[in-house]
Amino acid sequence: MFGQMMDQPLLISSQISFAERFHADVEVVTRTVEGPIHRSTWGEVARRSRRLANALLKMGVREGDRVATIAWNTQRHLELYFAVSGLGAILHTINPRLSPEQLAYVVDHAADEWVFFDTTFVKLAEILAARPKSTVRGFVAMTDEAHRPASSIEGLLVHDTLLEAESDALVWPTFDERTASSLCYTSGTSGHPKGVVYSHRSTVLHSYAVTMTDTLALSAADVTLPVVPMFHVNAWGVPYACAMVGSKLVLPGPGLDGKSLTELVEAEGVTSLLGVPTVWANLLAHLASEGKKLGTVKKVVIGGSACPGTMIEAFEKGHNARVIHAWGMTETSPVGTVNVMLPEHEGMPWSEVLSYKLKQGRPMYGVDLRIVDDEGTELPRDGKASGHLQIRGPWVASGYFRQEGSDTHHDGWFATGDIATLDARGTMQITDRSKDVIKSGGEWISSIDLENAALACPGVQTAAAFGLPHPKWQERPMLVVVRAPGTELTANEVMSFLAGRMPRWWLPDAIEFVEALPIGPTGKVLKRTLRERFAGYVFST
Ligand code: ADP
Repeated sequence: MFGQMMDQPLLISSQISFAERFHADVEVVTRTVEGPIHRSTWGEVARRSRRLANALLKMGVREGDRVATIAWNTQRHLELYFAVSGLGAILHTINPRLSPEQLAYVVDHAADEWVFFDTTFVKLAEILAARPKSTVRGFVAMTDEAHRPASSIEGLLVHDTLLEAESDALVWPTFDERTASSLCYTSGTSGHPKGVVYSHRSTVLHSYAVTMTDTLALSAADVTLPVVPMFHVNAWGVPYACAMVGSKLVLPGPGLDGKSLTELVEAEGVTSLLGVPTVWANLLAHLASEGKKLGTVKKVVIGGSACPGTMIEAFEKGHNARVIHAWGMTETSPVGTVNVMLPEHEGMPWSEVLSYKLKQGRPMYGVDLRIVDDEGTELPRDGKASGHLQIRGPWVASGYFRQEGSDTHHDGWFATGDIATLDARGTMQITDRSKDVIKSGGEWISSIDLENAALACPGVQTAAAFGLPHPKWQERPMLVVVRAPGTELTANEVMSFLAGRMPRWWLPDAIEFVEALPIGPTGKVLKRTLRERFAGYVFST
């Protein structure tokens, strides 16, 4: 016997309709690409999304068609989130930091029909428009007529002009909640990027998940500023969740530097920040140089790569803002685990709190985790055994777009490529990416632990550890350090700092200084580039 509850599909359009009905006056504020701050509301975003949807229908966009964006976090991008998916079409958010070859690859692979772009990216749009064979039918500049870019693109349309020609009368269509809603390609640091296709159901469930108190706790009480880009994993689902709960949303546009973010936080009274460690490193450096504090900010969600202890301490002790360390992937929508304190941690000394906060956290309901050995046998959840992390759940990808078979899926589990430990409560700690782990004499050295230790050394601005081939040990660790400005740090000083903080055999065999670390399109250090750069390096020991 079935229950007698209403069979209403979980659709993204219901989130924006809810926002319009129940918190139409809550603000949506954008630092625009054109420059000024633009003030709007969820009510206006809802109306403009329907006008945009009417325009898309006239442009021939139908259920299942792909509409691409190359854009910052702005209100127009938000309108596309709701208009494209609301119609049952698929929003393909493209990372503008992809190389021109990867850009062309993802547009072809997705078979995008329309490309909406911020005027910052007009050159990328022109590269795409100049290609002789393409599925793209046209390009739309995400601006108003006054800021129409001078461009060679034939028949270029303008976002606001499209909207002005339309009415906001539209009833969002109803369809199966498993319908595809958006598409995001992993950055593809090796091989071609792979497309992850989200559904309405997965997106709405994930939105509920990130509003739970013991996760990211997105709330009506918050003023939320997602620095995490809307071109990467739907800005961690923040735009959908904020529409659902009625949080004031502040969108940083192209201003991701410390000064622009500080201004926005101060002007809008931001309480909740979300982003990757590289962005926060810049923000903290700016605040320190200006002698400023993050007055209104209560919590900072940090994920995307391991969050260093020094960063947690700077936010919590220096700025009185709670750090929520989270882990996820493009394939997991992205939130998989979140680190929040439990009652048993009450009264813990700060040093222990800090080492707990370095862990990636616990899965929320909906996500199941396990670790397995090289043969696929499950390992104990004892906080000690480390193995290949696997995940499953209704917002975890079951495969990749237009790709037969998958070497990352086994018996209903997705192999994350991360190496981690798990304890009985599900607390997960990543020791490495499987491709970054340093294999020395049959044992594993965690590059993350090495980096964390190095980052605590005075005078170290950033650091990366990676393995290089070694005739006797298979691999040995190398540490590459960027000195803090104005310091004269030496390799010996770093080495003596590390000695005693880790097992002797973990100590790097070499320490080199560089001007900057190579950073990939999603803000992560490109270890592969470092390994290539130092290939053939001869250890002196
Ligand atoms: P891509 O770089 O391909 O876009 P994702 O953004 O999906 O990939 O990155 C997912 C990977 O990022 C994870 O598998 C993990 O290695 C790393 N990662 C994400 N969050 C954390 C975290 N909190 N700590 C350590 N590593 C993390």
